[in-house]
Amino acid sequence: MHVDGERFVDCASGTFNVSLGYSTPEIIDALHGQLDRVAHLSSEFTRAKSAEIFELMRPELPPQIGAFWFRDITGSGANEAAIRIAQKATGRSDIFSLFLSHHGQTVGTTGISGNAFRNRSFSLPFAHSVKIPGPDCANCFYGQVPGSCAMMCARRLEDFVEYASSGQVAALVVEPVMGNGGNIVPPPDYYRVLRETCDRLGILIIADEVQTGFGRTGSFFASTGYAAGLRPDIITFAKGAGGVGIPVAGVLMRPELDVLESWEHSSTSGANPLALVALEETVRYIRDRGVLGNVTAAGARLHRGLLALSRTFRDMTGVRGVGLMQAFDLPTSVDVEQFIALGRRHGLILRGSRYGFGRAVKVRPPLIITGEQVDDLLDRLHATLQSFQK
Ligand code: PMP
Repeated sequence: MHVDGERFVDCASGTFNVSLGYSTPEIIDALHGQLDRVAHLSSEFTRAKSAEIFELMRPELPPQIGAFWFRDITGSGANEAAIRIAQKATGRSDIFSLFLSHHGQTVGTTGISGNAFRNRSFSLPFAHSVKIPGPDCANCFYGQVPGSCAMMCARRLEDFVEYASSGQVAALVVEPVMGNGGNIVPPPDYYRVLRETCDRLGILIIADEVQTGFGRTGSFFASTGYAAGLRPDIITFAKGAGGVGIPVAGVLMRPELDVLESWEHSSTSGANPLALVALEETVRYIRDRGVLGNVTAAGARLHRGLLALSRTFRDMTGVRGVGLMQAFDLPTSVDVEQFIALGRRHGLILRGSRYGFGRAVKVRPPLIITGEQVDDLLDRLHATLQSFQK
C-alpha cells in the first residue's frame, strides 16, 4: 500500500480486516454497483440474499454447521448473538472463556474476555462469566512441559465447572488461534481434548473466528483446517469477511441452535446490502482465486523467514503462527511501541500486543501477498531489527 507517496507493507491488514487488499477491483466494483442501486434495506428484506450467501459458503463450512444469523456488522455483535443463542438453546447461563482472550468491545463481550487489564477503568459485570487457563504452552499456567501434559488445561475445565461455575454452563468461547492475547497457537491435540471434555460435560463450543476466519490460517475457517478437532457448535466471524474492510459479521451454527427470534438480536445496519455484497464477493474471491493455497505457501515462506531472522537477532524469540497469522516476541524490557515506530520508518506497518508476561509483534499481511512481497517484508524487518539492536 502507499501512504503519502511512500510504500508500506501492511502487516496488520488494516485492523486485521482488509484481508484481500485495499483496492481489489472485483469487490470494489461490486460495491459500486450496489451503491448505484440502493445503500440500505432493512434486514427483513435481505433475508433471501443472506440465505443465498450461506448456501455459497456451505462447501467451506464444517459439516455440522447448518444455520446462520447474519444480523451484525461487528465481531462484538456476532459474539453477543452467539452468547444469546447458546443461553437460549441450552437454558443455561454460564459462559466460559480463556485467560487473555478478546471477544469484543461491548459490555457483554468485554465481560467474557480474559484480558482483564482492558477492564480496569470500568465495572463491566457479566455475572455468568468464568475464565479458565488457556493453551499458552510457552507460559503454561500449570507449569507443565509441552508434549507430556496430556492437555491438562483442556481437561481441567471440569474442575472449573465444579468449583467456579453455577453448574449451569451454556458454552465455552475459544479463539482457535488466540489473536490479541499474543497469537497463541495451541497444539492440535488441544482442540480434540477440549471437544471431548465439552461433549462429556454437555457444553457447547463457540469458535470465535473473527480473526482466524475467511482464510487467515490457510483454510476457510481455522476449524476446517488446523483447528478441525474443535468441531464447534457455533462459529462467529467478522473482520476479513468484508474483504476490503467493509464491516460485516455473522454467526454460523448447528441447525438445532437456530433459536433466536428476529427481535431478540439484530442491529440497524445488520445484513445491509453493501455488507452482503462484500461478504458474497469475498467468499467468491477466496474460493475462485486460490487464496487459501496462497496463504499456506506465503505463510510457510514468512514463517521460515521469521525463524531465520530469530536465529540472527537475539531479541526476537518465540516465532509462531498458522498461515498468515504469524508473530514473534520481543523481550519484556523492550518498548514494543518503539519497535513498531522503527518498523514504520522501514516501511512496515506492524501491531503489537501485550500478553501474559510477554510482548508480541504480530505479522499478518493481506492474504493475497506474493512470495516476492513476503521477501520484501522480511528484508524490511531485517533492517528494523538491525537498527533496533544498535
Ligand atoms: N473477537 C476477536 C477474536 C477479535 O479480535 C475482535 C476484534 N479485535 C472481536 C471479537 C471484536 O470485533 P469488532 O471489533 O468487530 O467488534
